[in-house]
Amino acid sequence: MVSPHVTVIGAGITGSMIGYHLARAGARTLIVDQASLPANGVTRHSFGWIGSIAADYDTKAEHYALLLAAIDHYGALDRELGGGLLDGTRGAVRWEQDREKTEELLRFHRSLGANTLPIASDDLKSRLPALMDRPELALYAPDEVAIHPDRAVQTLLRAAQEKGAQVQLNASAYGFSEKNGQVNAVLFEQGAVKTDFVVVAAGAESGRLLSPYMETGDLVRSPAAMVRIRCSLPEFGCVVQSPQIEVRRLDENHLIVAGDAPDDRSNSGLENYGQDVLKALRLTFGELPDAEVTQVSIGERPTTTSGEPLLGRCGSMTNLFAAVGHPGVILAPHFARQLTDEIFARAAVEEIL
Ligand SMILES: Cc1cc2nc3c(=O)[nH]c(=O)nc-3n(C[C@H](O)[C@H](O)[C@H](O)COP(=O)(O)OP(=O)(O)OC[C@H]3O[C@@H](n4cnc5c(N)ncnc54)[C@H](O)[C@@H]3O)c2cc1C
Repeated sequence: MVSPHVTVIGAGITGSMIGYHLARAGARTLIVDQASLPANGVTRHSFGWIGSIAADYDTKAEHYALLLAAIDHYGALDRELGGGLLDGTRGAVRWEQDREKTEELLRFHRSLGANTLPIASDDLKSRLPALMDRPELALYAPDEVAIHPDRAVQTLLRAAQEKGAQVQLNASAYGFSEKNGQVNAVLFEQGAVKTDFVVVAAGAESGRLLSPYMETGDLVRSPAAMVRIRCSLPEFGCVVQSPQIEVRRLDENHLIVAGDAPDDRSNSGLENYGQDVLKALRLTFGELPDAEVTQVSIGERPTTTSGEPLLGRCGSMTNLFAAVGHPGVILAPHFARQLTDEIFARAAVEEIL
């Protein structure tokens, strides 16, 4: 089985990243998604920040190392794909309520290997001229980047197709058929598709497909909100995370703000939430007369209560793999590398057997 046939379920950032890596390594790859468009799950609502300085104090060192490695992985992939992945965001700035807390934050991230610099109020002014109430001290991580998630998925799928992968939309997998303790086909309403390996990268829906084969009890949906604001804010090229707001530029005319999902998710609840975010943005960047909320959406982040991703082989099945975890954009290249290695290693074993 030198060129295994692999079916990847899910064309979000995780599935498209894995599909590209598999196709590049020579697997006969089929990427399927139940939606009529790729990136139609939580990826569509993502902030797309690739970096480590948003991590909490309880982040384990091994996990932190993955966050740092993602910056290099995305940089290398962007070069490989001719610049289609990163969106031009350069650097991230974060500060806490007061100087002491920001200093503590700086010490924490530096202790885990992040390239972070202290940046004083005046320097911050030259970097973010529009900033109103500048903190005395912030931390600046010059290497951090971002992707535009929809575009990144399209770029990865296109690149995977150029390497021979097939992409099938409107295809909802509802289970697997098995033979000799292995999956031998993925089941769709339209029929069964024979395959050597399966990767489940179905985000928050993954539990449905994986639960017969592995413990998925700690897989949970964690809602978060994305607010898109039409507003031109020149000279604003980095991610900003303050105690009040997490914001970055999406394109020339839009900013995006990520935050906790509101309890009231009715239309009026989301509208009020958008206006509150706009107020917070104005407190940070001034009047912004042209600013207008154009979209408030909620995405369900697939995560686990333990914080550990579901990654790798499922239970006793040697050819069924899971790839679900948070933060999924950052972790996608790590998932893709690990599963590509595992699948080719297993395919080599099958070849001998
Ligand atoms: C507001 C917000 C901000 C965020 N910011 C960041 C950030 O800055 N950095 C970061 O790393 N992460 C961030 N995240 C989290 C990140 O968006 C997710 O972790 C990531 O997008 C998960 O991608 P995925 O491909 O695993 O899942 P999804 O994007 O949900 O993709 C799963 C795909 O599987 C398909 N599918 C499901 N079931 C089936 C089936 N049975 N058959 C076929 N197809 C199926 C779905 O249609 C979907 O397209 C954020 C999330 C939100 C909501």
